[in-house]
Parts: sequence; structure tokens; C-alpha cells
Amino acid sequence: MRTVGVLALQGDVREHVATLDNLGVSTRLVRREADLSGIDGLIIPGGESTAISHLLVTSGLREPLCTLIGGGLPIFGTCAGLILLSSEVLDGRSDQWSFNALDVVVRRNGYGRQIASFEVPIAISDGATVPGVFIRAPRIVHWGPEVTVVATHDHGDGEHPVLVRQGSAWGCSFHPELTSDVLVHGLFLDALQEALR
Ligand code: GLN
Repeated sequence: MRTVGVLALQGDVREHVATLDNLGVSTRLVRREADLSGIDGLIIPGGESTAISHLLVTSGLREPLCTLIGGGLPIFGTCAGLILLSSEVLDGRSDQWSFNALDVVVRRNGYGRQIASFEVPIAISDGATVPGVFIRAPRIVHWGPEVTVVATHDHGDGEHPVLVRQGSAWGCSFHPELTSDVLVHGLFLDALQEALR
């Protein structure tokens, strides 16, 4: 049985826990360094990346997480979580930082402000479709050759990645945790099982 941590500093923590519950996965809320021991993977929820980046420092989680992610801990970030995993953040606050686990450049609020939130079906590469809820979502504007694009969305100006992975790090512009669809979490968990085999 695997235990997946959910970073519980800010954001839609409960929704990720509920999705993992639906998949029968045991979860651990991660608020301090001691909570990291024994987790097999970690989810960084959607919320506010500037707040989460600040709280990662004050909670003392930044350095131990850097080490774990560098060592290949399976990690999945949604929306603000994707911002925190990216290599470069455009339109970020000057003091916000990110883990550099995915070779992607993201533009904060790159799909518009809160009022421009939308939901569209997103086709996943295996032919299935999931509901994509975009709320002040980061847009992936550049991505390196190491990045696998799992799903894209055309917002009127060509296809852009909205679900990517690089090794055991996954990032998603939208919020799979805000719907009852578990497919995206399932992809991450399958990869986690594979990585730990
Ligand atoms: N725009 C937010 C940020 O910069 C992310 C929004 C979200 O997670 N729904 O953190």
C-alpha cells in the first residue's frame, strides 16, 4: 500500500485528499519536515503559488523537498502546484521561487484572470477525455525536449501543453481535483507504482 502526501500549506488540499480516497490510496497531510517520512509521492495542490512558495520556506519544507524531488520522489503539481514545479515563472512575484522539477516556462494567469475561468474537455493521449477546469491557470509557454506532453489545449492560438511529465514529476495547468474524474490522478499513481517497482 502506497502513501501519497498532499502538501497542506494552502490551497485545495481537501479535494486532492478526496480524489485519492476515491482511488483507495492512503494520504498524509504534509505540513512540516517530519510529515515527509515514509511518503511514496507528493501532490502540490492548486491555490496561490506565491503563498505556497512563502510557506514552504517558513515551514522548513523547502530544502528537504528539494532533496527528495532531486532524488526522484514522484511529485504532481496542479495549477499553482505546476507553477511551483516549473523551471521559470513569468509574471511571478519577485520573491517567488520554484523547484525546477519540470523544464517548462509558465506564465501565471496565462489563460486570463478569475473572471475568465472556464471548463473544457481535455483529450488525454490514450483517447480518454477529462473535464479541464481552468482557474487563473498557468500557461506553459516553453518546454524542453525532456518534457513529455500528455495533453494539450488550443485556447484560440494553437495547442499548448496542459498536462506534462518529466521523469517522475507531473504538472497540470487545470484542476483535476475539482471534478469527480480520477483519470489524471490515476496516471500519476500508475507512474508512481512503476517508479517504485
Ligand atoms: N494563479 C495562481 C497562482 O499564481 C494559480 C491559480 C490556481 O491554482 N487556481 O498561484
